[in-house]
Amino acid sequence: MTKQQDYVLQTIEERDIKFVRCWFTDVLGTLKSVVLAPAEVEGAFAEGIGFDGSTIEGLTRRSESDMLLHPDPSTFQILSWSMDDATGRMFCDLSTPDNQPAMADPRQVLRRTLERAAKLGFTCQIHPEVEFYILKSNELVDGKPVPVDDAGYFDNISGGIAHRFRGRAVRMLEELGISVEYTHHEGGPGQNEIDLRYADALTMADNLMTVRTVVHEVAAELGVHATFMPKPNADWPGSGMHCHISLFEGETNAFYEAGAQHQLSITGRRFIAGMLRHAREISAITNQSVNSYKRLWGGDEAPSWVCWGHNNSSALIRVPTYKPDKPRSARVEYRAIDTVANPYLAFAVMLEAGLRGIEGEYEVPEEIDGDLRDLSARERKVLGYESLPGSLDEAIAACEQSELVASTLGEQLFDYFLNNKRAEWEAYRTQVTDFELRSGLNR
Ligand code: GLU
Ligand code: MG
Ligand code: MG
Repeated sequence: MTKQQDYVLQTIEERDIKFVRCWFTDVLGTLKSVVLAPAEVEGAFAEGIGFDGSTIEGLTRRSESDMLLHPDPSTFQILSWSMDDATGRMFCDLSTPDNQPAMADPRQVLRRTLERAAKLGFTCQIHPEVEFYILKSNELVDGKPVPVDDAGYFDNISGGIAHRFRGRAVRMLEELGISVEYTHHEGGPGQNEIDLRYADALTMADNLMTVRTVVHEVAAELGVHATFMPKPNADWPGSGMHCHISLFEGETNAFYEAGAQHQLSITGRRFIAGMLRHAREISAITNQSVNSYKRLWGGDEAPSWVCWGHNNSSALIRVPTYKPDKPRSARVEYRAIDTVANPYLAFAVMLEAGLRGIEGEYEVPEEIDGDLRDLSARERKVLGYESLPGSLDEAIAACEQSELVASTLGEQLFDYFLNNKRAEWEAYRTQVTDFELRSGLNR
């Protein structure tokens, strides 16, 4: 028994915990939970918890359905919202019955990529900006979702639900050991944002699974509906999840160089170059739904073109300004990703893209000042700017060819993911939409 495992067992006893939820994530990023009686936890630490993985999206081939869950004691927390008896939770790693890491476990995909970064001397910190809409319910009126307010960016709404919602979410998150830097109303009606304080990439992927759960729990408590759907209404700004990323070598921020342009080191520039070069092929992972591409091509502040800039909020990658006396905060902001991504897989491919830029000593292209959408298609072509994929279909086509994504995810997970996404695209493209009916019925 390790010290951490001992600590969990002791806490379970002292706090009279009645249930322990063992959390893990399927390939598509859906949270799964198995609930243990407290007396089973010691055995679970020693031997794992056996379960049939064949019914969980992407976990196993039918022929090898037995799996083990291994609770990670460092993630133990008590769930403050549970109306039931005191409940704790831990994230789990998955293995085969002979204790080999399960190839289809997203958490281990990220672990492997972080180990690769560590071999190059880096740890990775991420701080995401989580955007979502608060709706009156999940019912549509005239085919559209109904937001809880009509407010906009940074609005202070007296008497509305947004402040109470965010306050409650922050309290729950802090009680679970997840620090929130700030929250605010976003640009769309009912749209809000929660900015998490940075953490190492694995902790942050776990934290995001918790944040998504907490936001839905708060919505249920307050009798409203929350959605991370990237573009719930064509007339509203989309909901993204900009990610601020930095690499550290020990205590030193590897992206910082005093006196360099934007205080950005050569390592930072190569990291950006890697993310830019591989952006198209990783899009199916960072933006995995049909609807994700409605956000990317729906204007407002979502990026459509592969480019970077200093403080440029139309660019795919932005290098924010930060206080020069705070080298720790040097970072790059990747703006394509949305919150319906599987955070473990998305962080793994984003990081791998940047690492390849560093290893391959990629040259970063010229930064841009304005919005590439203001140029004509011809001008963009002459200047050599690529677009992000225009649809999930295009993203799948780019991903299929990607050695980077295949090797980061592993063949089994890669094949499963692509098959699933092809099926999603097929299901979508055979729909007859409102748009077609409105424009076509009178023909
Ligand atoms: N909602 C915008 C997006 O879809 C981002 C707005 C912002 O800059 O925070 O990416
Ligand atoms: Mg925002
Ligand atoms: Mg941002």
